[in-house]
Amino acid sequence: MTLPDQDMPLNAQADKLRPGLYIVATPIGNLSDLSLRAVDTLKRADLLAVEDSRVTAKLLHHVGIKRPMIAYHDHNADYVRPQLLSRLNQEVIVLVSDAGTPLISDPGFKLVRDARAAGAFITTIPGPCAAIAALTLSGLPSDRFMFIGFLPPKEGAKKTAIEEVAAVSATLIFYETGPRLVATLTALQQGLGDREAAVVREITKKFEECQTEKLSELIIRYQEKSPKGEIVLIVSPPEKKAQADKVEVDTLLKAALEDHPVGKAAALVAKKTGLSRQLLYDQAMQLRQRSQK
Ligand code: SAM
Repeated sequence: MTLPDQDMPLNAQADKLRPGLYIVATPIGNLSDLSLRAVDTLKRADLLAVEDSRVTAKLLHHVGIKRPMIAYHDHNADYVRPQLLSRLNQEVIVLVSDAGTPLISDPGFKLVRDARAAGAFITTIPGPCAAIAALTLSGLPSDRFMFIGFLPPKEGAKKTAIEEVAAVSATLIFYETGPRLVATLTALQQGLGDREAAVVREITKKFEECQTEKLSELIIRYQEKSPKGEIVLIVSPPEKKAQADKVEVDTLLKAALEDHPVGKAAALVAKKTGLSRQLLYDQAMQLRQRSQK
């Protein structure tokens, strides 16, 4: 392990940093989570590429730093990126987002891709990320996980996105907002079955909360009142038994589909197995489509 001050002396203000792109993670709530190395890099930046200058100005004020900023967000990125790229060889450009790790459901991927293609120096000052913080709090398996980020808001697209990950043998991580939470929990229960899940809210803030229970229980908990604040949703992987059962269920559905239309076949297998009729309907539709190809 290298000690941080061997790479970058914290008090050596005179030392110029090497020109290039510095990806700096910032707090997701508690400002004290800004790392010493992040502060040092921000201090010595020639330019900060920020999502919202008002948000970053607050953070800089907290640590007594003033640096020039340029907005870099989804609406102007294509226009600003060439300007940033043209300066990377001479200047220290720091990329920050409003909170957490840049590029994670935040702008930056294309900037890093193009900076790398241009042969620029790129480094990261890692730190808070809501997805990882929530996973560690949830009590759900952390050995294999898949970050999904925000699901599409529209019902049909959301359902398709959930279907795409239903068979993935990993814990799933979603970002969500309070007003949409119950609709998403419901779509997840319909698409994945009643798995164990966690609603993790307001991480590192005063009202930090983590509720880990079945999706159906979370729906009941939150349907009366949408929770406030920022939310990460963690969903446990499918049980091994459920995966094995899928093969048996396919066999039952195939048999039922020989004599019945999709809806009726799903209803019959639902009665036999106690599984969700909606889930079986979707599975039967997939089987029918596959058999027609
Ligand atoms: N880049 C950020 C990161 O590293 O976590 C994520 C940015 S994304 C635009 C914002 C979403 O992250 C929020 O809508 C919420 O789902 C999640 N989030 C951010 N801060 C959070 C917090 N303190 N507690 C819970 N979720 C948070």
